[in-house]
Amino acid sequence: TKEKDWSEKTRTEEQISEPEWVNNVEFFITKKLGVWCRGPNGEWHLGKIQSASGDAACVVLSTTEVVEVSMKEILPANPDVLEGVDDLIQLSYLNEPSVLYNLRVRYSQDLIYSKAGPVLIAVNPCKNVQIYGNDIRSAYQKKGLVAPHVYAVADAAFDEMMREEKNQSIIISGESGAGKTETAKYAMQYLEALGGGNFGVDNEILKTNCILEAFGNAKTSRNDNSSRFGKLMEIHFSAKGKICGAKLETCASPILKERLNLKAASEYNYLNQSNCLTIDRIDDVQKFHKLMEAFNIVQIPQEYQERAFALLAAVLWLGNVSFEVIDNENHVDVVADEAVTNVAMLMGCDSKELMVVLSTCKLQAGRDCIAKRLTLPQATDMRDSLAKIIYASLFNWLVEQINTSLEVGKLRTGRSISILDIYGFESFKNNSFEQFCINYANERLQQHFNRHLFKLEQEEYEGDGIDWTKVEFKDNQECLDLIEKKPIGLVSLLDEESNFPKATDTTFANKLKHHLKANSCFRGERRGHGFRVSHYAGEVLYDTNGFLEKNRDPLHVDLIQLLSSCNCQLLNLFSSKMHDKSLKPASLSESMNQSVITKFKSQLFKLMNKLEETTPHFIRCIKPNSNQLPGIYEENHVLQQLRCCGVLEIVRISRSGYHTRMTHQDLAARYGFLLDTKLSQDPLSTSDSIMKQFNLPPEMYQVGYRKIYLRTGQIGLLEERREYV
Ligand code: ATP
Ligand code: MG
Repeated sequence: TKEKDWSEKTRTEEQISEPEWVNNVEFFITKKLGVWCRGPNGEWHLGKIQSASGDAACVVLSTTEVVEVSMKEILPANPDVLEGVDDLIQLSYLNEPSVLYNLRVRYSQDLIYSKAGPVLIAVNPCKNVQIYGNDIRSAYQKKGLVAPHVYAVADAAFDEMMREEKNQSIIISGESGAGKTETAKYAMQYLEALGGGNFGVDNEILKTNCILEAFGNAKTSRNDNSSRFGKLMEIHFSAKGKICGAKLETCASPILKERLNLKAASEYNYLNQSNCLTIDRIDDVQKFHKLMEAFNIVQIPQEYQERAFALLAAVLWLGNVSFEVIDNENHVDVVADEAVTNVAMLMGCDSKELMVVLSTCKLQAGRDCIAKRLTLPQATDMRDSLAKIIYASLFNWLVEQINTSLEVGKLRTGRSISILDIYGFESFKNNSFEQFCINYANERLQQHFNRHLFKLEQEEYEGDGIDWTKVEFKDNQECLDLIEKKPIGLVSLLDEESNFPKATDTTFANKLKHHLKANSCFRGERRGHGFRVSHYAGEVLYDTNGFLEKNRDPLHVDLIQLLSSCNCQLLNLFSSKMHDKSLKPASLSESMNQSVITKFKSQLFKLMNKLEETTPHFIRCIKPNSNQLPGIYEENHVLQQLRCCGVLEIVRISRSGYHTRMTHQDLAARYGFLLDTKLSQDPLSTSDSIMKQFNLPPEMYQVGYRKIYLRTGQIGLLEERREYV
């Protein structure tokens, strides 16, 4: 049972810790206990050891095949009674094949949630599973169900918030397509059901979600509904636990601009055949209705709704705008076809004017202003910039509208739950600036995770002087140093190089190689303009191509002017916002002169600071296969993700850790009156006496300088006695 393997001293023969098990091979042979043995391709097979001599063993596999394997390739398997346990801390043998197997067994029964100590693991079912109904939700609410579930996490966060009056956060991470956004939706749904009432008749917060999805998600090779932005939904509660408002923050928006590059939009070529106001992502009638309903909840006037769709269509059409080269210096004209006419119509401007803006740039020559023709790459860039500006402004505007509708006054109650759903770690064949930003954000998030689950916990034990064998974990500080350290880190060097007009991808790559070679997380490529970073989740090869331009992200004055001249209130609004920023002197408007990466970094820091002030609840989403197929569990793929987030280490810490802590004063105040002897003045010795009088086994608790530390379940025993009296 759980209690048994918690303790070192009550360990039975069957609970031999990993490194020692090799000395007990005889025991495994005589008792015919199961083992995992690694095959030639790294895959694990279940079997039983027949005989062993020296470093080699004969193993009968479950297929009855007999193989000879090096002892190094064998690990103990868990007894059958532990098959499919819902918390990995219950496993007697904690090793990779055992964890993988346990999750697989559960997954095959549609038990997609498991616990790894304090962390919830959610394996994407890639199909609908019937575990989110009202009956199940109310069972969790009434504490009638305790099996691992996103509802249980939301419920625990809610209880802790109410009990301690402290802000909570639910931090959801995982690869693209692992199920973060879905999980976040279920958490929100649960909280809305729990705290519904005064606010929002039915699931208003949840409903606004589809606005963001319709506008902020895209189909990618990894996920049909991939989030192109990170979001933090902050739900506020009253003292009675009723929702009294919510606030949405989109994290690190520069990414959005990058992510909505027109490669995606150019897939919309078939828009040529359709009415320009139909958009493929939302052509599904039901989804469209939901979106309309959400627009009404957010109270966006009809007229603006139509404008918003027109602008979305304009962005898509922009992807189809093409150019023809008119001289041998690669200068271009815009092809006057229906694409450009449609864009102009949808934006409410003159198509001739649009064509001029997309193919020329104005240069100040003394007092005169002359128009210079753009080359093909420059014009393409201008076109893409226009699309990005419109899209990003539209998106930010929608977020503002949603917030106005959700926020009820100024909310500072100390009773809030923030749900973070951020873009997951990415490693493609070709990785550019945007992957760098995404992976940097994930690296920060990983540090937060490490800090809370490994560092703080162990520091508390050590600081309070209790017996504790340190559990090592993969610290990612070195990688963060590589990125953030001033003046010699990736971010600083990128900014420095972006300020050199003559810098190129190659000079930037060389600069990195020159300055960063001492950091063990960095590897320069011998040739070309690539560099490698060892992230917590694996090594990524980045191509410096485009880094400098993307980081500079100049504001095109001509484009802003165009927007202000359009016969469209929304575009006028967007342009005036950008105009305000560009007019401010540098000293007043720091952020204007900041590079994209520096802005990104400061947004990230703000987010992390916010999270630091909450009690975190972690959910790790796992993608079972790379094709979004149900029932397929690719072991190596899963293992890689489990390794990234240090699942084994978390389990190790939490099973040897002390779940309940109480100061000696609190303990004496609550249980002191039960003592037969007179209460001592010294709180520490009172704690000692309480433990002795109740016969708590010594391995079940530790007495620190300030606090008493109890293993799971022990506080219940004390409470029982208290009630009994
Ligand atoms: P990205 O980082 O690209 O935004 P993500 O982690 O947010 O990815 P989701 O969009 O949440 O991934 O999930 C991808 C798909 O997996 C969903 O569209 C859905 O089909 C399926 N899915 C995820 N979680 C569940 C679940 N709990 N039940 C059923 N299907 C799910
Ligand atoms: Mg998502």
